[in-house]
Amino acid sequence: MSTVSTVNGGISFWYADQGTPTPREPLPGDATADVCIVGGGYTGLWTAYYLKKAVPFLNITVLEAKFCGYGASGRNGGWLYNGIAGRDRYAKLHGHEAAVRLQQSMNDTVAEVIRVADEEKIDADIHRGGVLEVACTPAQLARLKDFHSAEIAFGETDRTLHGARETAERVRVTGAVGSTWTPHGARLHPAKLVKGLADVVEALGVTLHESTPVTEIKPKHAITPYGTVRAPYVLRCTEGFTAGIKGQKRTWLPMNSSMIVTEPLPASLWDTIGWNGRETLGDMAHAYLYAQRTADDRIALGGRGIPYRYGSATDNDGRTQPATIEALRDLLVRLFPTTAGTRIAHAWSGVLGVPRDWCATVTLDRSTGLGWAGGYVGSGVATTNLAARTLRDLIQQDSGQSGPTELTTLPWVNHKVRRWEPEPLRWLGVHGMYAAYRAADRRELTSPRAGTHPIAKIADRLAGRH
Ligand SMILES: Cc1cc2nc3c(=O)[nH]c(=O)nc-3n(C[C@H](O)[C@H](O)[C@H](O)COP(=O)(O)OP(=O)(O)OC[C@H]3O[C@@H](n4cnc5c(N)ncnc54)[C@H](O)[C@@H]3O)c2cc1C
Repeated sequence: MSTVSTVNGGISFWYADQGTPTPREPLPGDATADVCIVGGGYTGLWTAYYLKKAVPFLNITVLEAKFCGYGASGRNGGWLYNGIAGRDRYAKLHGHEAAVRLQQSMNDTVAEVIRVADEEKIDADIHRGGVLEVACTPAQLARLKDFHSAEIAFGETDRTLHGARETAERVRVTGAVGSTWTPHGARLHPAKLVKGLADVVEALGVTLHESTPVTEIKPKHAITPYGTVRAPYVLRCTEGFTAGIKGQKRTWLPMNSSMIVTEPLPASLWDTIGWNGRETLGDMAHAYLYAQRTADDRIALGGRGIPYRYGSATDNDGRTQPATIEALRDLLVRLFPTTAGTRIAHAWSGVLGVPRDWCATVTLDRSTGLGWAGGYVGSGVATTNLAARTLRDLIQQDSGQSGPTELTTLPWVNHKVRRWEPEPLRWLGVHGMYAAYRAADRRELTSPRAGTHPIAKIADRLAGRH
């Protein structure tokens, strides 16, 4: 298999497939709105969608630095699934029942995204094959069983556990000794979803200005080089790019994730792999992988490359390191040895937002009208939709149009978290943590022991995850 002719960057393969959109007109000068949304990814666009549907006369403006879908929403692995970062911590803080409600809302969210895509005729190659997570070592199997039990305890009664033979009947992953499957997941084409959503929102009458970076957010003000938008509500929906806004350097850490995609695989090769259910596929490694079988029969696979760039810097239009491409290719061939001769067509990376306590949040500060949602870590394709419906309810509640709802009382609403450490501590901490996770994965690969390697447990504690 060769990576010599692999396209690197170009934002993502999903855009190579679709074409990069021409940006809409930038903000022409000072303006006013009822709600100003900063960032045109899933969070910002879903929020605009639900607000406009609820209150059609609302004057909503979205300000996007590049073009809608430039960020993680146009680069992700296309796992629409029910995971939410921080659920276990929310259980500790607010009780098990509150976390079960959060989980059930996430289960419903997967169906909600599919429902709206269908209703609005957004063709995003959605296929609801569920999520299959496999274990390839004794330590991974022990974690898989714990994970499976925990998910059931949080109300996922439709989740199933499989041995090696049943796993191979779904997908033949080399060395897989077991798996867990949930129906609460679907495969999708990320860029088709975000582009479709932007078009739908615009058709509803939301104003979208692209090529318009917001440099500073203040109560009732979003400031750009071209003018200021004044609005009673200003919502920050910038996830992994948040550090680029004045005063937000240490709010959410921009964590990299990188992906590769193969050429379309011939039917003869698929015969050796199976994967006819087109489940989204992951594993139980500490530096875990996520993969999908695309609508045109490629394998798209991702994992952490260089996890974090010094000073909260972000990538250059999705370029990733050659060493990361090689590492992901090696992983692909380890999982599916028959892909060894297949060309890697494209590689890219993107950033996701990581809060200091690794818990996703959605907030509206009623005293200032400032709101935000994010810190989804690696689980934002569905969570952004729940966040958006929650922001809608919080604004409606604040403006006296409704009272508290099922969503405004979920435990992740208005959660406060401390900021990240200044550099160089931030860089040292994240690189140390991922070096430890990789070391633990390597040792678990050759160890007959069923327990998680102690190095990973130390890394978890250092990271503030447990
Ligand atoms: C490689 C990769 C793979 C992933 N895979 C999955 C997956 O399979 N499943 C899953 O659930 N999650 C996945 N995620 C995470 C998921 O994609 C994100 O959580 C989700 O897309 C976040 O959406 P968002 O709108 O909050 O942020 P983004 O999509 O990043 O959007 C933020 C937008 O804000 C704009 N912006 C930034 N700064 C400014 C500014 N100053 N002014 C104006 N606009 C600004 C950006 O240009 C961008 O368009 C992945 C992430 C990455 C990077």
